[in-house]
Amino acid sequence: MAHLRRSRKRNCFDPLSLAARIAPPFVHQDFTAVKTRFAPSPTGVLHLGSIRTALFAWLHARHFGAKFVLRIEDTDRERSTKENVTAILEGLAWLGLDYDEGPYFQTDRYDRYNEVIEEWLTKGKAYRCFCSREELDAVREQQQRNGEKTRYNGKCRELDLGDSAEPHVVRFRNPRDGEVVVEDLVRGRVVFQNAELDDLIIRRSSGDPTYNFTVAIDDFDMQITHVIRGDDHLNNTPRQMNMLEALDVPLPKYAHLPMILGVDGAKLSKRHGAVDIRDFRQQGYLPAAMLNYLARLGWSHKDQEIFSVDEMIGLFDVSDVNSSPSAFDPEKLRWLNQQHLIAMPVAELASVLEPYLVAEGYDLSAGPAPALVAEAYGKRATTLTELAQKCRYCYQDFDEIDQVAAKKNLRPVVLAPMNDLRERLQVLESWSRDGIAEAIESCAAAHGMKMGKLGQPLRVAVTGESVSPPIDITLELIGRRRSVDRIRHAITLIEKRVAAD
Ligand code: GLU
Repeated sequence: MAHLRRSRKRNCFDPLSLAARIAPPFVHQDFTAVKTRFAPSPTGVLHLGSIRTALFAWLHARHFGAKFVLRIEDTDRERSTKENVTAILEGLAWLGLDYDEGPYFQTDRYDRYNEVIEEWLTKGKAYRCFCSREELDAVREQQQRNGEKTRYNGKCRELDLGDSAEPHVVRFRNPRDGEVVVEDLVRGRVVFQNAELDDLIIRRSSGDPTYNFTVAIDDFDMQITHVIRGDDHLNNTPRQMNMLEALDVPLPKYAHLPMILGVDGAKLSKRHGAVDIRDFRQQGYLPAAMLNYLARLGWSHKDQEIFSVDEMIGLFDVSDVNSSPSAFDPEKLRWLNQQHLIAMPVAELASVLEPYLVAEGYDLSAGPAPALVAEAYGKRATTLTELAQKCRYCYQDFDEIDQVAAKKNLRPVVLAPMNDLRERLQVLESWSRDGIAEAIESCAAAHGMKMGKLGQPLRVAVTGESVSPPIDITLELIGRRRSVDRIRHAITLIEKRVAAD
């Protein structure tokens, strides 16, 4: 019986035993191919830490031209929600972390889990436990009083008690002796003593299988060769390895990624931006910049900071991941986002910018084309949202001119040249940046002023602010009607000032 023989070779897939054991749809053709997975629990949304885990597993797969699996671990039925599944799928889609298989849902796989549990019960690899909650509580309290590690005392382990119709859980018969060695690709060798591991519950009395068990079964069935996940799961690894041993199958390789901390060294929380990854989209970050930033949290290649996704795929190796925690620095993320914005071709920037312009409430038919805005403002903002907000005056009128700017620039001395310029602009043949620049220049010359002396009051008049792209381009984008109206309004303000003096 080939499939019952014990696999001696660890970390090496054995076609015979696999082929004999895997029920469809998990029959694999290529047993040596790298395959990774991302296995979020939909008990929460995707935050930076989980996305970084997904990214590293994805990069590892893509680097090897291998498959990436999405598995939704939803056996905690009370805390898993559809909204969180949606958040996970949307977050991955936004970032372009595509998967080749899945999403699998663990709740669809109960038949498979029960099949293994029944087999293990028959073979004595698992046992039914009828201990009541009160009994377990009493044991735990006693252990606490004795200063011992709290754990199941193994009462039902050696007894063949009870009737399976009575309420019970099923526990895994964890080996009592020996050690489990995890050769972690990031952490190196980590050794666990079996004596320290409990006989884990693998099926609750509700019938729901539990985390460590389902993960082990799934990683095997789905032919995962590299389990890449957060190091909060490192302590689970020996338990999962023991279960894979009980299945008598090869083990995957493990890579446990260090935590992401806040810049203050504290665990990443909402305060630091450990929020729904979709919030970063709303704030105007580019997927490529997010991925670049997250990859650099723990991974590096020489002293390079800016990577395209393709470059990361080419260079990524999970064994290069640093084993110490890294810190989330929002300032650096903004900087990187700006670098990606700057490097983006205008047409591409225009198309990603458009929804942000719409989200600001702009009527795009009553303002400049997004490509013009992308060209003029693309290097001036750190996020798409900031970019969209910076060009508000191109699409919408403003109520008030910035007071400090007005006081400084809209002075009686510019009254005559502004009046003159308004007339020149009104009759300008074609509303183009060159024509506009020429009009400003000749008007300034006619009044014996330097171009800048007229340009800045003009800027304040048409934008309400003192900073904008070059004035000829700014006017071109704002359009003739709005520009002339705003100059007229500024003239009225100056006239009032003259009258008040
Ligand atoms: N479902 C687990 C989690 O969301 C991950 C399990 C794993 O990657 O093995 O934390």
